[in-house]
Amino acid sequence: MELSLIRTFLLDMDGTVYLGNQLLPGAKDFLNTLRNQGKRFYFLTNNSSHRASFYAQKLHNMGVVSCTRSHIITSGEVCAFYLKNMKPRARVFLLGTPELEIEFLQAGLTLVHEDPDYVVLGFDKTLTYEKLNRACQFIRKGIPFFATHPDLVCPTENGPILDAGSIMKAIEAFTGVTPKIFGKPYPEMIDYVLHKTQAQREETAMIGDRLYTDIAMGRQAGITTILVLTGETSKEDVPKSRWQPDFVFSSLKELEEHISR
Ligand SMILES: [Mg+2]
Repeated sequence: MELSLIRTFLLDMDGTVYLGNQLLPGAKDFLNTLRNQGKRFYFLTNNSSHRASFYAQKLHNMGVVSCTRSHIITSGEVCAFYLKNMKPRARVFLLGTPELEIEFLQAGLTLVHEDPDYVVLGFDKTLTYEKLNRACQFIRKGIPFFATHPDLVCPTENGPILDAGSIMKAIEAFTGVTPKIFGKPYPEMIDYVLHKTQAQREETAMIGDRLYTDIAMGRQAGITTILVLTGETSKEDVPKSRWQPDFVFSSLKELEEHISR
């Protein structure tokens, strides 16, 4: 496998491109090099509490000025796309933030409180007992259940906070139903990006700092995988994992040096 054959790079953000609000070494140079070589890049995030425009602005604020919202793919966008394909204008009872509600409305889905076709769990920072219980009652009656992503915790500068996966456990405990889940490590996210960008699978690579999400997703989707060691994973973790990356680099800086040779 040759990295020079890769024409589209998919990047995890936290731990790969930045940590908190700080760009990681080489991130900006890496993106500039891709641009100069005529290659494309997209950023993938499981966090469905915000829309693409939020992350584009965040990257812009950190100095990645070449990034627009079309470069960002969220698990909420992937989920909305799949629901819309299954049933255009589907009626959805959504546990989500106002930003995720806009995402779903813009996909042509209908948000309802009664008689839904689907129940969807996102990263809902506006969750109430009433919403949670209503979702559970629908699911118990057999309404299909979906979740944008499986993360139990969301890392923040002030430590981990409760994420959608932990709420999912509560719903599962009450209903006995496990949802269909999008986002990393599920390959639907890659399939969606390939569809949206018309990129070829064999010319696409996933770059990330987590073996069990970023690398697992890339492998399951059959694309090239690149682990960077700027986030959660150390070199010693790699041999122990069932998900083996095709390439390991200490950072985007080292990867940039490799591809610009
Ligand atoms: Mg990460």
